[in-house]
Amino acid sequence: MPGSDQYAEVIVNKAVDRVDRVFHYRVPDSLKNEVQIGSVVSVPFGRQQLEGVVVGFVPKPDVPSVREVTSLLYEHPLFQEELMDLAAWVADYYLCPKVLAMQAMLPRGLKIAGESVRAKYVDCIYLKKDLNGIETNLRFAPRQKEILSYLGTHNGTPVGEMLKVTGASRASVQALVKKGLVEVVSREVYRDPYSGEFFSVPRPENLTEEQKKALTEIKEEALGKRRPVLLFGVTGSGKTEVYLQVVQQMIHKKKQSIVLVPEIALTPQMAAVFKTRWGEQVAVLHSGLSVGERRDAWMRISSGQVRVVVGARSAVFAPCRELGLIVIDEEHEQSYKQENVPRFHAREVAIKRAQIQNALLIMGSATPSVETFYKASTGEFRLISMKSRVLNQSLPQVRIVDMREELKEGNRSIFSSLLREKMAERLLKGEQTLLFLNRRGFHTFVSCRACGYVITCPHCAISLTFHAGQKRLRCHYCGYSRVLPTVCPSCGSHAIRQFGTGTQRVEDEVRKLFPEARVARVDSDTMGPKGAYDRVYRQVRKGEIDIIVGTQMIAKGLDFPGVTLVGVVSADLTLHIPEMRAGERTFQLITQVAGRAGRGEKPGEVVLQTYHPKDPAIMLAARQDYPAFIRMEIENRKAASYPPFGYLIRILFTCRELPVLERTIDECTRYIWEELPPKAALLGPAPAPLERIKDRFRMHLVLKGDNLLGLRTGLQAGLRNAAENGAVKKGVNIAIDIEPINMM
Ligand code: ADP
Ligand code: ZN
Ligand code: ZN
Repeated sequence: MPGSDQYAEVIVNKAVDRVDRVFHYRVPDSLKNEVQIGSVVSVPFGRQQLEGVVVGFVPKPDVPSVREVTSLLYEHPLFQEELMDLAAWVADYYLCPKVLAMQAMLPRGLKIAGESVRAKYVDCIYLKKDLNGIETNLRFAPRQKEILSYLGTHNGTPVGEMLKVTGASRASVQALVKKGLVEVVSREVYRDPYSGEFFSVPRPENLTEEQKKALTEIKEEALGKRRPVLLFGVTGSGKTEVYLQVVQQMIHKKKQSIVLVPEIALTPQMAAVFKTRWGEQVAVLHSGLSVGERRDAWMRISSGQVRVVVGARSAVFAPCRELGLIVIDEEHEQSYKQENVPRFHAREVAIKRAQIQNALLIMGSATPSVETFYKASTGEFRLISMKSRVLNQSLPQVRIVDMREELKEGNRSIFSSLLREKMAERLLKGEQTLLFLNRRGFHTFVSCRACGYVITCPHCAISLTFHAGQKRLRCHYCGYSRVLPTVCPSCGSHAIRQFGTGTQRVEDEVRKLFPEARVARVDSDTMGPKGAYDRVYRQVRKGEIDIIVGTQMIAKGLDFPGVTLVGVVSADLTLHIPEMRAGERTFQLITQVAGRAGRGEKPGEVVLQTYHPKDPAIMLAARQDYPAFIRMEIENRKAASYPPFGYLIRILFTCRELPVLERTIDECTRYIWEELPPKAALLGPAPAPLERIKDRFRMHLVLKGDNLLGLRTGLQAGLRNAAENGAVKKGVNIAIDIEPINMM
């Protein structure tokens, strides 16, 4: 604790706006040397006992009767100062209580987030003395000798492990303890889910010219202005190897790296790439970790044992004190935005964090987001391009099939005749096919052919999804389920059918068409148990599978050299989502999937089935013409003052009672409008596209303007006034989303 400042400034763990400030507490003499900035403490608060984070010290408290810190919850500070600065920035930027931003930085299993998981202790055996010279004077039983020589190279191994390896017994250990040569100490050990169970991935012998050039340019930027780097490289150009090389340089400099990948790409394959190179110096953070594993990974990172952190968006908060590099792979991915508080975007946080810790930031993509590409084109970011594929494989040829024509010609199957033909060809030649389906927005719903009635969830405004396995209809938002009706609830007709195509149905169809083909399905339903994914992956690589059917999971980062044909069962997937990014998403997805074809020696081909063959996003994706696409999108955004030419804030109001909701949002809108800066626009209030979820009605407002700070402060002031004047009725929940991605 610095100097004589006896009073700690504490943020308490209570996520309420009026408590979102520092409170002063006296630090008792007994804790004076231990309590530091970043320490987590227990403090009295009103009649409660709360956790809190020490964020600073002052010589004098701001109230006369100051209370005392009760205890220290961890020996060492959990928060490094840079991360507290980052938390303050997140809270301010995304308008959320500071303590929630801090919670987002700690894994479950460390306090502040609620529960606490104990460290795991194991008895370990250590050599007590340097044995040189002793050996000649003392006599050892052979087993004891064995132990001593093992400890020469493995000092501090857990006793059990050592006994297994040497074949010695506990009695031998006892004897050595008595002689004063070894000691057994209980030590904290970390749970590492990946120890030993990954397969190894070979590293390329030589870098390509483009990779070398990219590395030179990255180095130049690192030594120069240190702007964020956009690594814009076509699919298969070997971006991953570039990241790996830069990470290697960081390891040499004893710096830590954070590598962010979309959750869906956090596959065993991805983990293996990093684990193969750096083994225990790598921590892979994914949603499947147990609470204890997560806690231990956090501790290993914080202590500096881990040099490389690979994880999804929240890994951007990994406690790296010696941070040198942040990589964001597939920078354009939507999953970098968190949809609950704090609603941060990992890219924005990474930019800020890199700045605070003076680290290098590399964002990679074959289809950069409009925002990022625009910033790279203005020079705010450094643009580095890789234009060809590693082995100079050509990009695949893409053909568009108009499914309306197929129907006219009497083809009612989900496959066009072209796709069927090409698949048959591949089977004959012994090459692999990948069939892609989007899951989101393209599920199997049930509707009446006579009157058009669609069966929806009684609690949420969305159609129910048909699950063939259980013959039930299920709501993907609230979990409601019901049996499939035999007559239409609206008109009584029996012509009630399922529409749309699930992966299951595609798989069935493939098996019917090609009974001799070996088919594998890859989606979140089939990939449940640990290892299932791994197995399919190996089978495909070994050529034991002919046709792979899957969702987004197969679009991301998978490298199957034997695949020469990709069929996009429906390219219209994301086209109909009512969002400004619908075209961008469609373009990105098609490019990603197409990029899976022709990664080996043989060229690839793509068949794109669509009902909208003239849609510009689809046509440009088919030509793989990113430059034309981005020019068009930037013009569109500019014309509408959408990001990056303006900022958006979405305010979502929800309530069980529609009239209460409508009254609240109308009144709040008036208060907010009064506080907005000139030139700001306010859109709405309007019902959200998903009008009801889990029995709560949903309405929203959107603010638009070029002055984000003005929008934020205006909004805050407006909402404060609304609350003080009783405009926010009971039962109404208000959620603020700064720079929203999902407007549903
Ligand atoms: P991207 O991420 O740009 O789509 P990847 O990083 O997945 O591309 O690389 C595509 C393939 O090329 C991978 O199988 C990778 O192992 C391989 N590769 C990368 N660099 C080299 C190289 N210098 N020599 C040979 N193969 C390489
Ligand atoms: Zn009907
Ligand atoms: Zn529902």
